Amino acid sequence: MKFVDEYRDPAAARHFVRAIKSTLTRPRSIMEICGGQTHAIVKFGLDQLLPSSLTLVHGPGCPVCVTPVEMINKAIEIALQPDAILCSFGDMLRVPGSQRDLFSVKAQGGDARIVYSPLDALKIARANPNKQVVFFAVGFETTAPNNAMAVYQAKRENLENFSLLVAHVCVPPAMEAILSSLDNQVEGFLAAGHVCAVMGYREYEPIAQKYHTPIVVTGFEPLDILQGIALCIKQLEEGRAEVENPYVRAVRPDGNLAAKKILAQVFCPGPRVWRGIGEIPDSGLHLTEEYSFFDAEMRFGLAEALRANAASECISGSILRGIKKPHECPAFGVRCTPEQPLGAPMVSNEGACAAYYRYRRHATKGN
Ligand code: SF4
Repeated sequence: MKFVDEYRDPAAARHFVRAIKSTLTRPRSIMEICGGQTHAIVKFGLDQLLPSSLTLVHGPGCPVCVTPVEMINKAIEIALQPDAILCSFGDMLRVPGSQRDLFSVKAQGGDARIVYSPLDALKIARANPNKQVVFFAVGFETTAPNNAMAVYQAKRENLENFSLLVAHVCVPPAMEAILSSLDNQVEGFLAAGHVCAVMGYREYEPIAQKYHTPIVVTGFEPLDILQGIALCIKQLEEGRAEVENPYVRAVRPDGNLAAKKILAQVFCPGPRVWRGIGEIPDSGLHLTEEYSFFDAEMRFGLAEALRANAASECISGSILRGIKKPHECPAFGVRCTPEQPLGAPMVSNEGACAAYYRYRRHATKGN
């Protein structure tokens, strides 16, 4: 298949593995930011091709996983309102809130609907003028432009029954939080290629310099990932800490200027709580004053409400910061499965626990 097989070529993969083995002189730890990359690593067994002295740790780049329980509770609160329709991508409906998930609210008669785009939610709002329609806006810089467009469109149409429950997060502040934490083990990053396709990679350069940490923009196919690791290791061994972009087929230095323009018009940076990490300054996107009319938290009076703790047995915080791996969780595959999840990383298509459960459940049993 054109543009897929080329990036899964076994001979080229062996070339990168040999390069990594011949360059590596001591134990190293590299974090892939994105849950999509985690799934590719586990699915294709890339970590098992690498020297045992090289540890790949899995980062916080799964939007469902890092959305805090408080936000899930707020979505549930909205879905329970008799005149509201809560629209969301499917996997958010299965993430446990403090007491229940959105699917159980739906089963009890709450109106929570799965959509595939924020524009679907706009259509629902146009078709239901007597209902308040809320789109649960989760995700990184990749999904935010679409959600910004939906709000922009709603404003143009004077659609007064549409709003966003905004839980957007941005990658660079989370990288800084990880690098500055006392128990940090990360020596280099594979940056998420799709985030960089939107934002470019200029904002990573000060981070690489400040923390003397190499950052390599990386795609999602096996060769992308192996090449990213090889370049990261080379930098570490040479004592360099730069931003490199081998993912040139998708990423330009300044990213997608049109997407960045609509983002800057509709959203502005502000603090955001990340599940398992806590509040990180300027790591969230919030609606600007001009678009604050479309803020569901304000419209439903939820801004200060609903503090909550995640299920105590779930160690997702340590997993999202790269301190532990999914199979080190005592509940993994026993009390926590995709059918009966205790935490978001087991629910999400990009969750690290889901990746280990899907591809490596039997291999990791007993570890
Ligand atoms: S296996 Fe389940 S309980 Fe354990 S960290 Fe993952 S999601 Fe949380």
